[in-house]
Amino acid sequence: MTRRSNALAPDVVSDVIIVGGGASGLSLAQRLVATDSPTVTLVEAPDGPLRAPERTWCYWDGDTGEFDEVVTASWSRLRIHDADGGAITVDPSPLRYRMLRSTDFEQWAYARIARSPGGRIVRATADTVRDIPGGAEVRCTAPDGGTLTLHARHVFDSRPLPALPPARTQLLQHFRGWFVRTDTDRFDPSVADLMDFRVPQPRHGLAFGYVLPLAPDRALVEYTEFSRTPLTRAAYEAALGHYSREILKLGAFTVETAEQGVIPMTDARFPRRIGAAVSRIGTAGGATRPATGYTFAAVQRQSRAIAAALRDGRASAPRPHARRVLAMDAILLRALDTGRIDGPGFFTGLFRSVPPERLLRFLDGRTSPWEEWGIGLRTPVGPMLRTAVELPFLPRRTHPAPRSGESHR
Ligand SMILES: Cc1cc2nc3c(=O)[nH]c(=O)nc-3n(C[C@H](O)[C@H](O)[C@H](O)COP(=O)(O)OP(=O)(O)OC[C@H]3O[C@@H](n4cnc5c(N)ncnc54)[C@H](O)[C@@H]3O)c2cc1C
Repeated sequence: MTRRSNALAPDVVSDVIIVGGGASGLSLAQRLVATDSPTVTLVEAPDGPLRAPERTWCYWDGDTGEFDEVVTASWSRLRIHDADGGAITVDPSPLRYRMLRSTDFEQWAYARIARSPGGRIVRATADTVRDIPGGAEVRCTAPDGGTLTLHARHVFDSRPLPALPPARTQLLQHFRGWFVRTDTDRFDPSVADLMDFRVPQPRHGLAFGYVLPLAPDRALVEYTEFSRTPLTRAAYEAALGHYSREILKLGAFTVETAEQGVIPMTDARFPRRIGAAVSRIGTAGGATRPATGYTFAAVQRQSRAIAAALRDGRASAPRPHARRVLAMDAILLRALDTGRIDGPGFFTGLFRSVPPERLLRFLDGRTSPWEEWGIGLRTPVGPMLRTAVELPFLPRRTHPAPRSGESHR
């Protein structure tokens, strides 16, 4: 299939090309091939520096059973620890918190794409994506160095942006996690610890532990900060060691593998339509919720909406988060960044005072304006209002590019 090609003779022609086979690309591709409509080509980078390492994706939803085959674990109860050691355990039923591993999701989606007569997976590096008459063109470099030209009526591009767009506030959610095995049973697999504020707080931003128990003696234990700059690997290791030994008191344990990452928390505007036939999806298209970093659920909603739009003959990627959700997040990010509100107090306060199912829908951007008004009244109203008033006068500026920081070891 790989050969020197020119724009007049594309190597592959399909209805839809999806560039990047991560969370958003895989989600959209597997959804489109499940409908009877388009032919879909998914372009994913070959193994190498561009390819994202294995990750854990968590989200909450009801009993849709949609990804049951690849969900590694799920929890019906969630716990928050406040800085003083108090704990709030909530049951957000009918929602459950679910975890899947990116490699399982990839294999599952690849199998569905491969089974579909209209589905095709191309392992190549996409170099350029551009409009051409009647559609768009993606030029790629194959692993053997040959070029490959793909044409389609619509292209959805999920490649990470080289730089984040200008923002008034840009924080990073940065973390490192250990998959640990303890010598004795230390975990309760029925409860996930979403935010554990017993960890020492940084001078700027906030920090918390995160524990996803997989068995009585196995868990993913993470140390996370919302702040401006990622830590060095040594600093994450020290924070994780302190959390595991001094706070969780895990006793003897081994670290089986690790994952590390940086997720942008920004009020930047992410253009979605970048050509007549080209749209951005996923984090590159603004699907990451600024105030939480959660992306996976928004990506599912966006994929469903794109599939429905294509069925109706439209091809736009709808906005992943409503304008008012982004406006609320911009206020929260600025209030956290300026230190006007106390992060641990803010999040524990919400879990204490808002019904859990409503709160999780809120964090997913699925609440009504009326529900959001009620939730807003349970936040520190003075500092939030002051921040809301000053925001329109603040310029958007370019912030230093975050290091991707993703690694496994
Ligand atoms: C370690 C980590 C853990 C996370 N955990 C969660 C979580 O629990 N819940 C949640 O909601 N969000 C989570 N996120 C945030 C978000 O869900 C993920 O970053 C998610 O992977 C974003 O999906 P995406 O499709 O936008 O990007 P990606 O999943 O990164 O996909 C981009 C794809 O493009 C490919 N690519 C790059 N360049 C090229 C090229 N030139 N040609 C072809 N392909 C290319 C890459 O190989 C990659 O597969 C996490 C992020 C990280 C980093």
